[in-house]
Amino acid sequence: MEPRKLELSDKEWRKKLTPAQYAILRERGTERAFTGGYVDTKLPGVYRCAGCGTELFRSDAKYDSGSGWPSFVEPSTLEAVETRLDQSHGMARMEVLCATCGGHLGHVFDDGPKPSGKRFCINSCALDLESRDDD
Ligand code: FE
Repeated sequence: MEPRKLELSDKEWRKKLTPAQYAILRERGTERAFTGGYVDTKLPGVYRCAGCGTELFRSDAKYDSGSGWPSFVEPSTLEAVETRLDQSHGMARMEVLCATCGGHLGHVFDDGPKPSGKRFCINSCALDLESRDDD
């Protein structure tokens, strides 16, 4: 694994992030289903990492999975995210991380719609939507 492009100390992360963002991104937490700010969002734009600002997902790839978390069929680019096996909580899941800062984003499952068949199940708190209406 290559070194992260953004490396901050724990103290710096605590300062930069809100407590909710810190719990997800740095402590691999999960927000409760249907509580995140972007679950039902359909605005066009780009979802950036709440930790480092890197573009991670596009609104075009977002779909309503009914899971209670923002769901995407694919990341913006293959390089934007990393996956690794997560065997916590007695399950074998693929964890999704921001490739730039190593922040925990969520998990990816194989029950997404075709053609990718992937469901990137991502915490709202790990994302920052840059709505196209902003500019
Ligand atoms: Fe990041």
